[in-house]
Amino acid sequence: MKRKYITIVAAVCALFVTSCGGGWSATEEELINSSRMSRMRVTTVDNEADSLLLRSECLPLTAREVASPIFGRLVASMVESVNDPENRGVGIAAPQVGVLRRVVVVQRFDKAGTPFEVYVNPVIESYGEEWSVGSEGCLSVPGLRGEVRRATSITLGWRDPVDFEPRREVIEGFTAVIFQHEIDHLGGVLYTDRADSVNEE
Ligand code: ZN
Repeated sequence: MKRKYITIVAAVCALFVTSCGGGWSATEEELINSSRMSRMRVTTVDNEADSLLLRSECLPLTAREVASPIFGRLVASMVESVNDPENRGVGIAAPQVGVLRRVVVVQRFDKAGTPFEVYVNPVIESYGEEWSVGSEGCLSVPGLRGEVRRATSITLGWRDPVDFEPRREVIEGFTAVIFQHEIDHLGGVLYTDRADSVNEE
C-alpha cells in the first residue's frame, strides 16, 4: 500500500514538473529563471567557456517547450538583453545568452515601428540571387566589425512562438542580413568566419 502511494506521488510530481518546464533541462531552467525576465549576461568570444557555447550546434524547440513558462521567460530576457542601452544590438540568438536552443530575436526594420520579433526553429529555405557586402558587428565579438557578403533576400521558415504553426516569408534588405547573422549563431558560426575583413571598431 505504502509503495503504491509513493508511486502515485512520484507520478504526479513528474507530471507537474513536465507540465511546468516542458523538455527544458534543469540547467536551462535554472539559468533562465535566474534572469527574472530581465537582461542576461551576453556570452563573448573572449571568455573560454562562452566561446565553446558560441561554437556549439543548438537544439530545436518542441511545441511543449515553447508552451512552457520557461520559454516566455527566455525570450523576454533575450529582448531585454538585445535592448541594453549600453550595448544595443539589432538581433540576438539564444546561445548569446548561454542557452543552446534554436530561437532568435530579430528587429524587423522592414516593419512599421521596427519591432523585435521572436522566431522559433528558424531555417533559411532559400537565398535570392543577389548578394552584397555590408558591415557587421556582434554583441558576442566585442570591439570588432567586419565586411560580410550576404544574400539581399531570403525565404525564411520558422515556427510561430504562440501556436507553433509553421510560417514562411520572403525577407529582404538589412532585415534579411540580420536573420542570416542570427541563424548562423544557431549552428555555432560567427560572422568573423564569413568576413572578407575584420577590423577594430
Ligand atoms: Zn552575433
